[in-house]
Amino acid sequence: MGSNVDVDVLVVGAGITGIHQLYRAREAGFSVQLLEAGDGPGGTWFWNRYPGARFDSESYSYAYLFSKELWEEWEWQEHFAGQPEIERYLNHVVDKFDLRRDMRFGARVTSASYDEATATWKVRTSDSKAITARFLVAATGILSVPFFPDVPGRDDFRGEQHHTGLWPSTPVDFADKRVAVVGTGSSGVQIIPVIAQEAAALTVYQRTPNWCTPLNNAPITDDQQAWLRADFAAIKETLDTSPAGFLHQMHDRKAAEDDERQRHQFFEKMWASPGFSKLTSNYTDLFFDADTNAQWCEFVADKVRSLVHETAVADKLIPKDHRFGEKRPPFVTGYYESFNQPNVSLVDLSETPIVRVTEAGIETTAGSREFDLIVWATGFDFGTGALLRMGIQGRDGLALADHWADGPTTFLGVQTEGFPNFFFPGGPHAAAGNNPRYNGDQVDFITDLLVHARDHGYDLIEVDPAAEQAWVAMIERNVARQSFTEKSYYFGTNVPGKPRRFLLNSGGRPKLHKEIAKIKSNDYKAFRLSTVQGS
Ligand code: NAP
Repeated sequence: MGSNVDVDVLVVGAGITGIHQLYRAREAGFSVQLLEAGDGPGGTWFWNRYPGARFDSESYSYAYLFSKELWEEWEWQEHFAGQPEIERYLNHVVDKFDLRRDMRFGARVTSASYDEATATWKVRTSDSKAITARFLVAATGILSVPFFPDVPGRDDFRGEQHHTGLWPSTPVDFADKRVAVVGTGSSGVQIIPVIAQEAAALTVYQRTPNWCTPLNNAPITDDQQAWLRADFAAIKETLDTSPAGFLHQMHDRKAAEDDERQRHQFFEKMWASPGFSKLTSNYTDLFFDADTNAQWCEFVADKVRSLVHETAVADKLIPKDHRFGEKRPPFVTGYYESFNQPNVSLVDLSETPIVRVTEAGIETTAGSREFDLIVWATGFDFGTGALLRMGIQGRDGLALADHWADGPTTFLGVQTEGFPNFFFPGGPHAAAGNNPRYNGDQVDFITDLLVHARDHGYDLIEVDPAAEQAWVAMIERNVARQSFTEKSYYFGTNVPGKPRRFLLNSGGRPKLHKEIAKIKSNDYKAFRLSTVQGS
């Protein structure tokens, strides 16, 4: 596409989105290279290799849909695959489509600067290499920078400590060990039951309980495998178009349309249903009617009380500060039951906060406990974390970190003004829901945009500022209409000092689809396309 570049498209990140982008850009005839900090493909599913890590979207809903052959040949073992199976799948995809030859592992991007004269990006990596690309696509993820709380003494601890999001590839042995887990979000509640089975003693440090409901995982039966194979076109159509990117059917009624007995039966059905269907297929007014939400919460609270033997422990595990859906709810397997084991205890940090980590363990206001191993399940610098650490500088040397000092501004969650030829699918302003579906929409759109530019002889793509402002205004306008509150890390709330801005597309996937259709019918006028002198 130009003689002054090493590659047309440089992709950063070998997660689900980056692999997809590499595949699509190469298929469209661009020269592509992909840089990845880790030693293998997987992204989130490479780093979060903690025991118990698994999808909580159905495996087949999460998988790639760009190849029917791939769909038909890969037989997922479980409705919600564990991390090892996911990593195997992604390696299979990389090998099947011969993507590895364009991937460089162990290469962390340390800086990326836009050159105005040539409309190219110069990218440097931790292995002291430099590469020049026409287009830079950062598929660096929204949950990829682990967050460690600023607890005094963390480095003093003499035992082993790991963050769930940076889990070592060598096995971690819990047997006969005294283990602490700090954090009870989706990662914490997945690892806790596994450690509980192995450790001599497990102490769970919980600051805020979540509304956890059963994942209801199961092996995929032969009949289900046959259905998956027979129905690819219909399944793909549903996943490509459904608002949250799931196969789940929406319910047809509000809570008040059922009597009490019917409601209870329906909630039982929801409790027994797989994963996110408790959000997508629940009463249609679950997030709009406080009474419906309260009834569901009370049902879940009753379940917790019935599962956890000690009343005081059960009470601590029931959220009091937020309603169901105001934060991203975790899905669990045997989580509540773990607290019935004699080797498991719960420390409620809302009553007795952590004071410091010591050489031997953790000290709270109630005293100290000694550990051999501490697991930090304390989350991520969501949305913008990875992009702001990459040393990205756009036009006139403007640092992305400065440009977004008050929070991210984007168009469609793919581009921002002042950073021409730079794209970030699956980054800030992506939608809540099944990530690969929404991110895949963005990857497809970016690829189509690059092809459009090439077909018309353009090599510079920059969003029209008015289009970006309208998109940001849409996001701000719709924040009040979605279910998440400022208690959610979707607002950056979990990271001290981070601006409080909604980090997702509050218009959701339908809004993205509508906008993309409009842009295409309008000949991509939401972007300024031009040709660099002398290229
Ligand atoms: P998270 O939801 O942000 O949870 C972090 C936990 O750490 C919370 O319980 C938080 O307590 C606690 N914490 C943070 N700072 C603390 C401190 N200073 N002292 C004590 N506790 C502290 O992070 P996560 O569990 O890693 O999950 C993040 C997201 O990753 C999920 O929401 C989900 O989107 C994704 N995920 C997905 C899967 C899956 O698909 N299967 C699995 C795991 C994660 P507070 O609530 O009080 O802040």
